[in-house]
Amino acid sequence: MKNPILLLLLAFPLINFAQDDIEKVKSTVSKSEIEGHIYFLASDELKGRQTGSPENKIAAQYLGNMLRGYGVKPVADTNNYFQKVTLNTTSPFENAVLKIGDFTTSEIVTLKKINTSFSGSLVFANYGLAEDYKNLDVKGKMVVTYSGTKDNSNLRFAFSKIQEKTALAKEKGALGIIEVNSINDRTWSQLEHSFNGEKMQVPEEKEEKTNDFTYLWINDQKEEISKFFDTKNEINATVTIEGIKEGTVISQNVVGMVEGTDPKLKDEYIIYSAHYDHVGIGAPVNNDSIYNGARDNAVGTVTVLSAAENIAKYPTKRSALFILFTGEEKGLLGSKWYVNHPMIPLNQMVYCFNSDNGGYNDTSIATIVGLERTTAAEDIKKATTPFGLKAIDDPAPEQGLFDRSDNVHFAAKGIPAPTFSMGFTAFDEEITKYYHQVTDNPDTLDYDYLLKFFQSYVLACRNIANNPKTPFWVEGDKYYNAGKNLYKK
Ligand SMILES: [Zn+2]
Repeated sequence: MKNPILLLLLAFPLINFAQDDIEKVKSTVSKSEIEGHIYFLASDELKGRQTGSPENKIAAQYLGNMLRGYGVKPVADTNNYFQKVTLNTTSPFENAVLKIGDFTTSEIVTLKKINTSFSGSLVFANYGLAEDYKNLDVKGKMVVTYSGTKDNSNLRFAFSKIQEKTALAKEKGALGIIEVNSINDRTWSQLEHSFNGEKMQVPEEKEEKTNDFTYLWINDQKEEISKFFDTKNEINATVTIEGIKEGTVISQNVVGMVEGTDPKLKDEYIIYSAHYDHVGIGAPVNNDSIYNGARDNAVGTVTVLSAAENIAKYPTKRSALFILFTGEEKGLLGSKWYVNHPMIPLNQMVYCFNSDNGGYNDTSIATIVGLERTTAAEDIKKATTPFGLKAIDDPAPEQGLFDRSDNVHFAAKGIPAPTFSMGFTAFDEEITKYYHQVTDNPDTLDYDYLLKFFQSYVLACRNIANNPKTPFWVEGDKYYNAGKNLYKK
């Protein structure tokens, strides 16, 4: 074809169409609006939006009313935007002490939350692995071990060995395990924050709970405990953990929808999701005890609000379901609740475009955890370039991020579900400086970057929701077969 005018005429509708969507995105996503949302959600007054707290409810109310204001509809038979989430709680201990003769310590982390009143023998069993129990009698006693294995003392690895070590010790008749570690103060305070606080579970998890075994980590930086075992293998001690109570708490997911415009494709839904809870109030650092969670995850929450406002104004061919989860920081509980209680059948959900954020260290990119794992990769990459960003895939697979956010519950059901995050190229100091720290405040964010980031997300949403081809897992993916099952493909 040589005729340049004909060429132009043919190309014009395509250019116009793409251009049109970019203009639609620019017309609804603005820097001042983003700032307004983030400064509110991450304000000190919302006290870190801890699941079940009054401030978590205020955040939910704010989000529900934003959806209402945009013209997003409540789902089905509810006339509000809330899905009630009832969680079981286990309180922190009031008192925890290990006493050996005149020596006492309370530097204790409870990996299993049960009250303990033990007075008897502690037996040293090296790493608590099968070979370590040879010639040991631990029946009715507690076992003291190092954490992890001889070759690996990494805490995440140590944590992954807990189940196996528990099974071994229980089989030998032991009543509990005390792991002694030498951990620096900063890491130790993070461990205390993660494990000693209130624990929450969805009711289904509760039944799996093993509530008859004590499992503690004790910080033994000065090796005061291990030295008791220098000369003998068994010593007398008391272990007291008291004041742990069980209860329930009611929280809520925030959910709304916009019907698609295409008579066929509107039966397919794209989920746009993010968690809005954060970790609440914790140990003070420089007199600040509010963990504001601006990056984690006021930013993700506002990606979803941005998509909701845009799609309510300019509906896409596929229908849209917006879900803002509670309970993520307590163990991905709001999303777990949702997949157990879906408001629209899960096999109509063809994609879940989640957003979660720890931090960022590169303002020229957006990092999509799982980018190349679904066939929507091109739609996402195409959406970042008009705003000057480059889309990259997970640069830190060793962190296991794909399986550590709400998207994983949808992925496990078979729904293609990547997570859209602010640009990071490694899980480095720039990330850990803010990640789950009191410093994660709204005034430490680059809003020029965020504008591009949100615009990219919303355009990606539009691309995926308007693409005639339904997105799916890339062949061979871990969740590919789950997808085949869900959609009966
Ligand atoms: Zn978090």
